[in-house]
Amino acid sequence: MLHIAASQVGDSKHMAVMNEVRAQSIQCPYCGETIDVLIDCSISQQSYIEDCQVCCRPIEFNVVVDQEGESFVSVFSENE
Ligand SMILES: [Zn+2]
Repeated sequence: MLHIAASQVGDSKHMAVMNEVRAQSIQCPYCGETIDVLIDCSISQQSYIEDCQVCCRPIEFNVVVDQEGESFVSVFSENE
């Protein structure tokens, strides 16, 4: 069970939001569908493979979170 403090909403421009899981939309490199994925922004750099929710093919994710907590997600197909 995952508990996320919801009380940090208000003025969250400070950097108190490093430990958060964020939903992000990406485009599948195989079928081109837009799918929502959950990004764990507490890890500054990570790569992993997750199956597309539409075509079930393995998408390679490369996630970078900068010092302000901004997340950048790149997706690749395994064949390329
Ligand atoms: Zn797909």
